[in-house]
This record gives sequence, structure tokens and C-alpha cells, in this order.
Amino acid sequence: MSPKPSTTAILSALPEEQDGLIALLHQPRRTTHAGREFWQGDLHGQPVVLALSRIGKVAAATTATALIERFGVSRIVFTGVAGGMGLGVKVGDVVVAEDFVQHDMDASPLFPRYEIPLYGQSRFKADRALTTLLLEAADSALRHINDGDDPWAFPDARVHHGLMASGDRFVSGAQEVQQLQSALLASGHPVLAVEMEGAAIAQVCQDYGLPFAAVRTISDRADDQAHVDFPVFVREVASYYARTVVEKFLGLLSKQ
Ligand code: SAH
Repeated sequence: MSPKPSTTAILSALPEEQDGLIALLHQPRRTTHAGREFWQGDLHGQPVVLALSRIGKVAAATTATALIERFGVSRIVFTGVAGGMGLGVKVGDVVVAEDFVQHDMDASPLFPRYEIPLYGQSRFKADRALTTLLLEAADSALRHINDGDDPWAFPDARVHHGLMASGDRFVSGAQEVQQLQSALLASGHPVLAVEMEGAAIAQVCQDYGLPFAAVRTISDRADDQAHVDFPVFVREVASYYARTVVEKFLGLLSKQ
């Protein structure tokens, strides 16, 4: 008999980003722990735990730690939405993280801006192998979603791969996003998207030596229109994207 495959945690920040995935679980079991709900079960023949990180870096770090310590997961994959920052990163596009930076970390002049004190680094890497699978899953999900006659199709949507910035702020102003982007760039961090959890989970996963990868659909451009674009996208599109990417990803993982 082949050994039981190791457990994958599928994490999102908001319920809308994970809507429908719980319904697909075989033999779902719900556990409440640390004020959060964790759903264990099988998805595409793979043992998974589904959970919501909640919003922001600390909440996400708590959830990631619980997944590792209490549920013994072997890898964490995040799927959610983000604000597009890079040139040509539009609503409906997908960004697969190559690495993460905490845009609100600033212990200067004691440490260089963006560097995590005592880590000697400002960026945390996504796992290469998981990221390769996510890129393939995102690519095929986009083709699937946008080739249909779905009212929410984004015919020009594309997959990007690069740096993601996380911080405890919903970035929603043209000037704000520009300032953030140029400050990051001045320190050598060309960011593609901004969100509120990824870099925290990446740090926890590095601490525990666990692979982590993240995929984010662009819900807004983090500009003056973000507060309008974000809720509509999250309500109408996010779960569809997430479900399609996760199913394709688990399909690829099971072939490994
Ligand atoms: N009141 C909202 C709060 C969502 S915060 C609600 O509960 O509906 C935004 C979430 O989407 C975070 O989890 C973050 O990771 C992501 N996100 C999307 N666009 C963002 C942006 N422009 N700035 C920061 N985070 C963004």
C-alpha cells in the first residue's frame, strides 16, 4: 500500500475567497481552535485542511502556526485576492508569488528599511516546486475561466510571477499606492501586488521549514477606485477563481 499523502493546508483570508471549497470536501470534519474553524477532509483524493487566515499579518501568522502545530500540515497554499501594483497588473489577472516583503516593516535606522529585525532579510521566498504547480494551475484556470462565455470572463487576463507586498493596510488611493511603490522600488523591491497576509505566513513557514506558495487574483488596483472594485470582485468572482485554481493545483499535486 502506498503511504498516505501528506496534508495540504488551503488558506484564504475572507470567506468569499474560499466559498464552495468546503462543499467539495469528502468526509468533512470541522474543528474549532484558536477562535478559528478548520475543515479537514479529502479534496481530489488529497488530504487537506481548509481555513481562513482572517485579515492582516498577525491573524494570518496565528492561523499558519495552528495549521502547523495542531494539524501537522506539510505545506500551505494561500489563495485570495490582492491589489495590483505593477505595470500591467490588471483586475482579473493572477499573480503567483515568487517572494514576499512586509511593506510596513520599518525598524530604521537600527535596521535597513523593510528588513525583518534579527532575520537579516527583507524577503521571504515562496517554495519553488509548489510555485511551479501553482503557475501551471493558474494558467490552466485562466484559460478555463476566460474561454467560456462567463459574464465575468476577463479575456486579456494573464498570469504574473513576482514579488508580493503585505502590510496591515488596505491600500486604496492613487497617491498612496504610488508612494508605496516608489519607496519599495527605491530599496530594490519591484512589487507586483499588495495584500495583507502573505509575507507573514511566509515568515512562519520559513521558521518551521515548511513549503509555502500563494496565488492572488487581482481584485482592484489599490487606487481611488479600490474600495468600489474590491467588494464587487470578492462577491462575484473571487471564489470561482479560487475554486478553479485549487482544483487544478490539487490535480497536479496528486500526480507528483
Ligand atoms: N472590509 C473588508 C476588508 C477586506 S481587507 C471585508 O472584510 O470585506 C482586503 C483583503 O483583500 C485582505 O485580506 C487583503 O489581503 C486583500 N486585498 C485586496 N486588495 C487589497 C488592497 N488594495 N490593499 C490591501 N489588501 C488587499
